[in-house]
Amino acid sequence: MPKLTILEERCKSCGLCIEFCPKGCLGFTDKFNAQGYRPVAWVKAEDCNGCAICARMCPDVVIEVMK
Ligand code: SF4
Ligand code: SF4
Repeated sequence: MPKLTILEERCKSCGLCIEFCPKGCLGFTDKFNAQGYRPVAWVKAEDCNGCAICARMCPDVVIEVMK
């Protein structure tokens, strides 16, 4: 199973990774980071195929995918 690392403090809640994940694995959390944004979480990890589209789409290099 792939592994995702999300650097929550860097996330700016732009939503690009959520929009482009083909499996609907990502969603916003209810908490806020120090910048005042709600960071993304890997909410449906079991459906992730490790494609790393989320990591490539993120302009702030928040997500790392390891297969
Ligand atoms: S690696 Fe692919 S399937 Fe997994 S969360 Fe990222 S975009 Fe979605
Ligand atoms: S693309 Fe990056 S900055 Fe935008 S919501 Fe996703 S993790 Fe956060």
